Amino acid sequence: MAEDWMKWLTEEEAAALEYTQTVGASAGAAHTVEVLHVCNQAVLNLRTVAALRALVGEKDGALVCSYAMRGLDPCYRSRGTPCVPCHVRALTEDDMRKRMEE
Ligand SMILES: [Zn+2]
Repeated sequence: MAEDWMKWLTEEEAAALEYTQTVGASAGAAHTVEVLHVCNQAVLNLRTVAALRALVGEKDGALVCSYAMRGLDPCYRSRGTPCVPCHVRALTEDDMRKRMEE
């Protein structure tokens, strides 16, 4: 049964997790300690990815348009220059990957 935190993973990541768990659990003693360590580490890393996405979701939910907070027309409606909270909320994982490559 899928664990709740897995809902934060992409299909590709969920498939990788399932494969990793299968490899880690299937052959048992036939695996070297190193293989089991890599499998455990991969699962921990995917849990971290899921936790970070959940964290971003919580923070996104708390970001309110600066204009709307002041009783003005929100920037996403007025199509003006995005305020900082709206700019941050619009960032994607692809945006962050590009930044890391720069
Ligand atoms: Zn805004």
